[in-house]
Amino acid sequence: MSVIPLSRPDITDAEINAVANVLRSGRLSIGPCQEQFEDLVAERCGRRHGIAVSSGTAGLHMIMLGLGIKPGDEVITTPFSFIASSNCILYVGAKPVFVDIDPVSLNMEPDRVAAAITPRTKAILAVEVFGNPTHMDKLAKIAQAHEIPLIEDSCEALGGRWAGKPVGSFGRAAVFGFYPNKQITTGEGGMIVTDDDRLAEQCRSLRNQGRSEAIDTAAAAQTSAGTGSWLTHARLGYNYRLSEIAAALGVAQMQRLDQILDKRRRVAGMYMKQLMDWQDLILPTVPPGGEADMSWFVFVVRLTDQYGRVERDRVIKDMRRHEVGVANYFPCIHLQPPYRERFGYQPGTFPIAESVSQRTIALPFYNQLDETHIDLIVHTLKVMLQREQLLKR
Ligand SMILES: *Cc1c(COP(=O)(O)O)cnc(C)c1O
Repeated sequence: MSVIPLSRPDITDAEINAVANVLRSGRLSIGPCQEQFEDLVAERCGRRHGIAVSSGTAGLHMIMLGLGIKPGDEVITTPFSFIASSNCILYVGAKPVFVDIDPVSLNMEPDRVAAAITPRTKAILAVEVFGNPTHMDKLAKIAQAHEIPLIEDSCEALGGRWAGKPVGSFGRAAVFGFYPNKQITTGEGGMIVTDDDRLAEQCRSLRNQGRSEAIDTAAAAQTSAGTGSWLTHARLGYNYRLSEIAAALGVAQMQRLDQILDKRRRVAGMYMKQLMDWQDLILPTVPPGGEADMSWFVFVVRLTDQYGRVERDRVIKDMRRHEVGVANYFPCIHLQPPYRERFGYQPGTFPIAESVSQRTIALPFYNQLDETHIDLIVHTLKVMLQREQLLKR
């Protein structure tokens, strides 16, 4: 591992004790921690239901299934995201219809979303990229006007707000992810939130091997084991459950969410202050006014367009050599092999997303970073960029 890794979870004694308590309790799956975790996340989003799942990807897959999306259907989504936001569309045999992004927020451009709707469009799947909630209200309006469900892939934006509403409350359903680089972690895990009773019930069944009844509560699982209904499966289901160990970790993290988000905001502020005046960098754009709360997931800077992929990749390689963990968030999804092979996408199809994608550098971003770390990271980046300047002469 680098001296300064790209990310690191924020784990305290509260989390360690919560996990130890579950281990001592003997109930390691389908228990009270799952329900408590679900309630905490649902409440934070102002939603009726929370459904804990084994990963953000599993949650997205189940929403696609729950909405009945199938081969021949189209789902409008962004090419500039982590690949899971599109893979779930392929899992159900539907076609992702990509639209180019707004170069400021890096989220889908709403006008392009509206223009991409056809009679085959069965959902709009939006991502709050890097935790930026911009445009979610507009996308919700477009979805409503066309009577198409909006799905939020909110895996990068837990705790954010936009236009007076929490992230996760804009569409038919939303999904959060709890991989260790996210704002809060359960090791692996995810959460669906929705107000739709039917969708919630379907997702609960799908995550639990298609069991027909709501027997995923602690008490019901015990009684049903004796009656035989535990082995009754109403539909083709999956095992997408979250363990009690993970859920307990999630509860402890949720109880500290505001503290965690504050720390992330502080780190972002330190970067902003030090990098503000750099001519060859474009900094993340915090939505203006009091309209939005960014939930900082990562801190991604972008080289200006005097640079290209070659320079960016060299900077990344050399920063890593200096033990500063950086990454190229994100290569465009449509140019990844599974998408190129299936749909024949060529470079140039989504010029804004592609141009952004080849010039981004995600800097180390986690709560334990202090001024000394930031100084070292910023200094290392400065040396790399000065060298690129000299190479250009
Ligand atoms: C992290 C993430 C996911 C889900 O990731 P899992 O590792 O499956 O929990 C989905 N979409 C986006 C945009 C993400 O960043």
